[in-house]
Amino acid sequence: MLSTAGGRIHCLQCTALSKRSGVQCRRPASKRSKNQKCHMHGGRGDSAPKTEAGRKRVIDASTKSGRYTKQAKLEQSNIAARLARLEDAMHILGMTTASRTRGRKSSSYFPLSSVQDVTDMCLNGELHNGNSALER
Ligand SMILES: [Zn+2]
Repeated sequence: MLSTAGGRIHCLQCTALSKRSGVQCRRPASKRSKNQKCHMHGGRGDSAPKTEAGRKRVIDASTKSGRYTKQAKLEQSNIAARLARLEDAMHILGMTTASRTRGRKSSSYFPLSSVQDVTDMCLNGELHNGNSALER
C-alpha cells in the first residue's frame, strides 16, 4: 500500500522493477491495471481492438502501401531466390564469367550445384512461374 498526496490517498504501488538497480517503481499503480503497474510500465489496461471488424479497421487504417505485408515480403523473397538460382544456373552452364552477387540470399533460396539441378529447375517450370510477378 502506498500513500500519496500528503497521506490523503492510499493506493497500490506499481510493481515494476528497475532493470539496472532492481529498485521498485514508486508511482501509484493504475486502477485499471490488471498487473498492478503505473501508466509508465504498461498499466493502462488492454485497449487493443477485440472484434474481427475492429482489428480489420486498425489494419486498414495503418496499412499504407501493402508492400511490407507478410504475403508481399514472402513474394519478394521468392522472387529474389529465383533470381539467385538463375544466376547459379548461368554460372553452371558457362553463360557468364561475372562475379557472383554478394550478400545474404533470401531464406527460400537453395543453391544449384550441378547441371542436373538446372535441368530440374527448368522442368519444374520455375523459369516461367514468376513472370507475372515480375511484370507488375
Ligand atoms: Zn511504474
